Amino acid sequence: MKNLIKIENLSKTYPGGVQALHNVDLNVEPGEFLILLGLSGSGKSTLLRSINRLTEPSSGKIQFDNQDVTAANHHELRKIRQHIGMIFQQFNLIKNISVIKNVLSGKLGYKSGIASLFWSHQEIEEAEHNLRRVGLWEYRNQAVKNLSGGQQQRVAIARALMQKPRLILADEPVASLDPATADSIMRYLGELNQKDGLAVICSLHFLSLARKYGTRVVALKQGRLVWQGKPDEIDESRFKEIYGEDAEEVEIR
Ligand code: ADP
Ligand code: MG
Repeated sequence: MKNLIKIENLSKTYPGGVQALHNVDLNVEPGEFLILLGLSGSGKSTLLRSINRLTEPSSGKIQFDNQDVTAANHHELRKIRQHIGMIFQQFNLIKNISVIKNVLSGKLGYKSGIASLFWSHQEIEEAEHNLRRVGLWEYRNQAVKNLSGGQQQRVAIARALMQKPRLILADEPVASLDPATADSIMRYLGELNQKDGLAVICSLHFLSLARKYGTRVVALKQGRLVWQGKPDEIDESRFKEIYGEDAEEVEIR
């Protein structure tokens, strides 16, 4: 199948000299739910953020749907980013404004100048539709700060959906949540993957969630891609290879 993402020989050295990624090659097909595993500091966020150039790669090439992301100018990058929704560990919402305004802000990548001050009837309907999908329509006029962590992450998902993305990048989306809430957030992402055919690339700490939702796993270690395969291929020895000899698997059910 045609690649949605094609990453070739990607490296990143931060100012100061830390090399966060070493020659990473990775392809992602449409419809995949790719899980990124690896210890803290292994380069997961750097890899995710390089895909839409929130982090500027040092060398290598990234293509999204055959368009060269790494060579894109400002205007081209803006167009590419419209197809890529992003979800963060800390939700990155504007806490003091309403749920629906946060969701509508997902449209801002499509608008410019004076148009970004107004929302059309259709945009508001879209926002309400996306809030219904994540079960938060009743909360649309509440300030985000009054919502629980899991609800806030669902607002962030609804906001990402406003872009009608083809890819969702999720950087440890459940790391701040309790296990039951974490599973429900993963379930929403799984539904978007299954029903809407969105590709998802998601970094995670819990192997149980990787096994439940991932179609493929990629493991990073000190900035290198050290293993990729099916989630159920991660046995004890593979786990130790990824996380080190002292690691113990913590399961959540
Ligand atoms: P992970 O998401 O797997 O925890 P990161 O991609 O955040 O890993 O970090 C990879 C490495 O790059 C780490 O050594 C980290 O300290 C370093 N790093 C991350 N962001 C920056 C930055 N903005 N400036 C300098 N070093 C950074
Ligand atoms: Mg990270």
